[in-house]
Amino acid sequence: MDFPSETKSASTSSTPFKSSNDDRIVVIGAGVLGLSMCTLLQSRLPARLVTLLAAELPSTSPDSSPAYTPSYASAWAGAHYRPISPSTPQLHAEFKLAQRTFEIMKRIASEKPKAGIKLMQGVEYFDRPGKGELGMKDGDVYAGPEDGFRVLQKSDLMEGVKWGCEYGTYCINVPVYCGYLLKEFQEKGGKIVSRKIGDVKQAFSLNEDEIGGEVSTVVNCSGTNFGKDPKIKLIRGQTVLVKNPYHRTVTRQYADGRWATLIPRPLDGGTIVGVTKEIGDEEETARPEIRQLLLKQSIECFPDFVEKLEDFEVISDNVGRRPFREGGLRMEVEELDAGRKRIVHGYGAGGRGYELSWAIAERLVELLNPGGSVQATTVLP
Ligand SMILES: Cc1cc2nc3c(=O)[nH]c(=O)nc-3n(C[C@H](O)[C@H](O)[C@H](O)COP(=O)(O)OP(=O)(O)OC[C@H]3O[C@@H](n4cnc5c(N)ncnc54)[C@H](O)[C@@H]3O)c2cc1C
Repeated sequence: MDFPSETKSASTSSTPFKSSNDDRIVVIGAGVLGLSMCTLLQSRLPARLVTLLAAELPSTSPDSSPAYTPSYASAWAGAHYRPISPSTPQLHAEFKLAQRTFEIMKRIASEKPKAGIKLMQGVEYFDRPGKGELGMKDGDVYAGPEDGFRVLQKSDLMEGVKWGCEYGTYCINVPVYCGYLLKEFQEKGGKIVSRKIGDVKQAFSLNEDEIGGEVSTVVNCSGTNFGKDPKIKLIRGQTVLVKNPYHRTVTRQYADGRWATLIPRPLDGGTIVGVTKEIGDEEETARPEIRQLLLKQSIECFPDFVEKLEDFEVISDNVGRRPFREGGLRMEVEELDAGRKRIVHGYGAGGRGYELSWAIAERLVELLNPGGSVQATTVLP
């Protein structure tokens, strides 16, 4: 199976959609999906004017850090790329999206150092590995081709851990990266409207002065589809950002469902110590007992990072909500007004928005511009 059926166009209209270069495209959302989509649209369809509309936007200045709500998931991510064994059709599809995104992230890391992406070693420890992990051997493809995948020896595993591995991956300094993408978009002529709207369709009626023409296509990268998709579940994540630096990203999955992870933020951004996964938990403020738990877990699992609680230099406690969609991301076209207008939906990335971002944007551009060519050389922001 190449891709879940939901990713195919759901268009049933007999009137083929027609657009011209005068028609405007509005992308809703300045999270990693909306920003990747804006970048790719400017690169693949340079004649089309793209406007980004969002309630919350990343800062393009290193001196300012706005107070974001937990709903703006992209502001709170680690972020690292951790492969997941492709044990279901959905995970298989995501496995391909992750590998394609890795190709592009590697190029950005080497060609655009200011973007805040760094290649580094990833290490995994599983207390309860699945069949997928147990069946793997040295040299297999885990994160992507030539990732140096190696299964750890039993003697390298801490108490309680049944399986571990190391491989090549990348980490992202998320405020830097999102600010970088937004700045590039602006510098290439992209327009920005900073506004909260109540429904995806309101983006079609933006003031012509702001947009410069009629809107024919809206790309919905709102994360959660305005609370109108019953398949969306929000998964709370609390982390601690500390100043202490680290050189690799490590994760332990405990048998009881807890997670311990370290995610360095490149360009001296400190390290994220995480993380919780609390389905449907709406608490917006950080719980002090969770901070303590995360820091203690880090000492227990990764003693080469920080040895005792007093040595952590805490910068902030963070709370964000992952927009998880049961059955997978929605990547789908919805036609309106007898085929004269379209919404291209792209939301519901859960805990994987960064690691799937470029491949998602490529699929959305294909849906928006069927038959257009897909060339890796045109992707780089
Ligand atoms: C603690 C934590 C750790 C994570 N770690 C990782 C990781 O290591 N790797 C990884 O790949 N992913 C990670 N994620 C997941 C990742 O952050 C998300 O998958 C990703 O940010 C989703 O991006 P998005 O663009 O779909 O949505 P968002 O980032 O939520 O952006 C949504 C955008 O839509 C706008 N919007 C929404 N509603 C409206 C409205 N009514 N009007 C106008 N604008 C609106 C918002 O203002 C915002 O600009 C993590 C998430 C959390 C919370």
